[in-house]
Amino acid sequence: PAPAGRPPAAKPGIPGVERIIAVASGKGGVGKSTTAVNLALGLAALGLRVGILDADVYGPSIPRLLGLKDKPKTSGGRTIVPLEAYGLKAMSMGLMVDEETPMIWRGPMVMSALTQMMREVEWGELDVLVVDMPPGTGDAQLTMAQQVPLAGAVIVSTPQDLALIDARKGLAMFQKVDVPVLGIVENMSYFVAPDTGNRYDIFGHGGARNEATRLGVPFLGEVPIEMAIRESSDAGRPVVATDPDGPHAAAYRDIAARV
Ligand code: ADP
Repeated sequence: PAPAGRPPAAKPGIPGVERIIAVASGKGGVGKSTTAVNLALGLAALGLRVGILDADVYGPSIPRLLGLKDKPKTSGGRTIVPLEAYGLKAMSMGLMVDEETPMIWRGPMVMSALTQMMREVEWGELDVLVVDMPPGTGDAQLTMAQQVPLAGAVIVSTPQDLALIDARKGLAMFQKVDVPVLGIVENMSYFVAPDTGNRYDIFGHGGARNEATRLGVPFLGEVPIEMAIRESSDAGRPVVATDPDGPHAAAYRDIAARV
C-alpha cells in the first residue's frame, strides 16, 4: 500500500506483479534476449516467482529461446493464459503468429499489443516480470518506459565502442523518463578458446564496466562469448536452466543477485 498522503501512481501497475524490470540494448544482436531469459532464470534460481514478457514485437525471440511452440489459451474468452517454461511464465507475440510471419504493424498497433500482453495476460502473483525490450530508442521503447511502471532497466552491451554509443543512448532515454538504471551487463565480454585455454578479447573487454563507472551506474557483470551459450539458446534450452552448476549459470545468477 502507498504511504498515506502520497497521490496514486500515475502509471497503474499489473495487479499481483511486484517489480517490472526492462532488459534493453541500444542495438540489436548484442545478446539482449539471451541475457533477459537467463537473467529471468537466475532470478527464479534465487527463489523468486518470475515471468518474462517479450516486448520485441517485430523480432520476438523468447519462444525460440525457451523452446515454446504452443499457442497460449484464452480463459473465459478474454484473458490469456501465459505459457510456462523452466518455471517461468512467458508471453510473446511470437506465440500468436508463426515464426515466418512478419509483423507489419504501425506504432499504435504495437502499443496496443504490448498493453494487451501486460494487462490481459493472467500473470498471477509474480515477484518480477522481466521485459525483453525491442532494441533502440524508438516509439515502442519510449512508450513502454513512460506507460509501464518500470522498477528499473538493465542495459546489455557488448564491449566495443559502436555498441556502447547506442547503449549510452538507451540509458539516457530511461533516465529522461525517470526509470532507474539498475546497471549495465557486458555480454560477449571475452572468449576462452576451448582447445588452448587462450583468452581473446574479440570485441575488446571492459568497455561496459568503464562506461558504467563513467556514468555512475552499477556494473552488473560480464558474460563471455561461448559456444555453449549460443547452442543452448538456439536449442531452446537456456544455460541457467539446463546447466545450473556450470560457470555461465553462475555468471547470470550473480547478475540476477545484483539487480
Ligand atoms: P539481441 O536480443 O540483442 O538481438 P540475442 O540474444 O538474440 O540478441 O543474441 C544474438 C545472437 O548471439 C544469438 O544467436 C545468441 O545465441 C548469441 N549470443 C548471445 N549472447 C551470447 C554469448 N554470451 N555467447 C555466445 N553467443 C551469444
